[in-house]
Amino acid sequence: MIPGPIEFEPEVMQEMAVPTPSHVDPNFIEVFGHALELMKEVWFCPSGQAFVVAGTGTLAMDIAGSNLIEAGENALVISTGYFGERYADLLKRYGAKVDILKAPSGQIVPMELVEAQLKKKNYKLMTFTHVDTSTAVLNDAKSLGALGRKYDVLTILDGVCSVAGEEIRQEEWGIDVVLTASQKAIGVPPGLALLVASPKAINAFKARETAVSNYYCDWTNWLPIMKAYEDRKPSYFGTPAVNLIMALETSLKLILKEGMENRFKRHLQTGKAFRSAIKALGLAMIPIDESVCSNTLSAPYFPEGVKGNELLGNISKEGVIVAGGLLSDIKGKYFRVGHMGSVNRSDLLATIGAIETGLKQCNYSFEPGIGLRAVQNIF
Ligand code: PMP
Repeated sequence: MIPGPIEFEPEVMQEMAVPTPSHVDPNFIEVFGHALELMKEVWFCPSGQAFVVAGTGTLAMDIAGSNLIEAGENALVISTGYFGERYADLLKRYGAKVDILKAPSGQIVPMELVEAQLKKKNYKLMTFTHVDTSTAVLNDAKSLGALGRKYDVLTILDGVCSVAGEEIRQEEWGIDVVLTASQKAIGVPPGLALLVASPKAINAFKARETAVSNYYCDWTNWLPIMKAYEDRKPSYFGTPAVNLIMALETSLKLILKEGMENRFKRHLQTGKAFRSAIKALGLAMIPIDESVCSNTLSAPYFPEGVKGNELLGNISKEGVIVAGGLLSDIKGKYFRVGHMGSVNRSDLLATIGAIETGLKQCNYSFEPGIGLRAVQNIF
């Protein structure tokens, strides 16, 4: 129950065990081309360009950043925690002049403040984290996309902890790059950097005055490869992660079989059920209210008088693995529980059951079963 790597479907894992075909095998070309097409459906971006590159979510951030910014250009980072700071560091490496709008922990930056900043200065691009995995705060992606459009600023959404879980409609919302990694709600073992770029982002890349200074990330190398696979033609720049891409195609098919609307609704319900159990147990959470709570993970504070390490140890003895805190100034004060991908009602009941047992062993006072009842009530 950590926020990634999540648990993967058996059909997906089977693809990892298939003898690895050549990356120019006609069957593999078909699978890769199809995966690129399916990504555009999951991202709701029919006119976008999908990229799949071996690497992690940080590489996806690097690909978007290095191709879209040039030295001396202005970038605005909307930070809701750990991964916003990472984007600011990354853009500075490419010589960007970076301003950061930082939300207080548990909150988002109000849209009026973002708009005021966009009015003040000309930015080439703006980045924001959809769900910050360190705080479980959900950003207002739709409004940020609209602001990007209004002020003609390229927008990059870090969706590592949201794509295929939280609602995203890339094209309709006007977001230029939506990026993620394979190991979260996409449901594939770690190792793939995934993103879809809008035609506007591709045009901005083509209009660059300087070469992309990161060789592996450069779209000059990858764009012809992605187009070739989409056209079902062999090509090569760097050897693709063949089994992971086969697993990706399988997972995307499963996601689309469930249907995106059903998937969004299911994650909403799962998030709500988990939060209502945590509240019933009397624990506070980092996001200050429901409007900024993500549905892919939650971040509850340890209750007063309960030692965090002891509680996490007790939960783990019950066979449930959750994650510790990540945000440096409050790291030891909270824990994180992922509830994305295939997580179902039984998983939630097992998790809340383990949390209740763990709390009891820490002599925390509550009505036993109250969290379990809250989950049942939502379902
Ligand atoms: N952004 C967010 C929101 C994340 O949650 C993560 C990983 N937890 C990353 C970026 C970086 O991804 P990776 O660890 O795959 O490099």
